[in-house]
Amino acid sequence: MSSIEFDHISKSYNQNRVVDDVSLLLPGSQTTAIVGESGSGKSTLLQILNGLVVADEGKVKIAGAEIDYDALPSIRRNMGYAVQGTGLFPHLTIKENVTLVAQLAGWQRTELDERYVSLLSFFGLDDELSERYPHSLSGGQQQRVGLCRAMMLDPPLLLLDEPFSALDPITRESIHEEMLQLIDGEKSILLVTHDMQEALKLANYLVILKDGKVVQQGAPDDVANQPVDDYVARFFGGANA
Ligand code: ADP
Ligand code: MG
Repeated sequence: MSSIEFDHISKSYNQNRVVDDVSLLLPGSQTTAIVGESGSGKSTLLQILNGLVVADEGKVKIAGAEIDYDALPSIRRNMGYAVQGTGLFPHLTIKENVTLVAQLAGWQRTELDERYVSLLSFFGLDDELSERYPHSLSGGQQQRVGLCRAMMLDPPLLLLDEPFSALDPITRESIHEEMLQLIDGEKSILLVTHDMQEALKLANYLVILKDGKVVQQGAPDDVANQPVDDYVARFFGGANA
């Protein structure tokens, strides 16, 4: 039930505004897809929400409260983050990667093991991967491990940055089905994707970013039927073909 509010958020790198006056009000228990071409500021928006990056201007609120940068660990416990390109710790085993946050949160061993096993099976991963290190896994397996890690504490808010991009089409399809079960629940999900098919399938709200600006937002059908410009229309060209 974690609503998210971006209130006139801007962020520049080297005089270059990569997030430009973004205002969004996303109610809780909603799956929002953020779609935009590479470099449009999608990952930066998630990083601002996670507190990894601090905006130059504007306010960010999660569940009505402005981010308290002195309390990031507790804020992050309620927020699973699947980093673009997996971001697994190379020196930790798969099991250590997934369960680290639960260890830090002081979970009991049995509770931790049970959650771990159920996540592996949810994402179709074999338990024989547990003692291996990330480099020995395929990109698609690493991505699924990243999803397990993001979901370990069963957080109410999930930030997913192109989480399915390295999966083969068949695995992607089956994980979409698993995700739909989650989405039917209470979770608030921010899904960054290039893939409009995926956005239409999983999300009930669409935000289209271009050059750090929100060019259109709304219900997926409304955006599909009335794209404001060619940039937005192009994303649907592929989806409807
Ligand atoms: P997207 O996820 O939509 O591809 P990003 O948010 O990663 O876009 O990046 C938006 C722009 O900001 C890009 O031009 C990128 O090169 C730039 N950028 C992102 N992070 C940094 C950084 N840490 N330092 C300098 N430039 C950055
Ligand atoms: Mg990105």
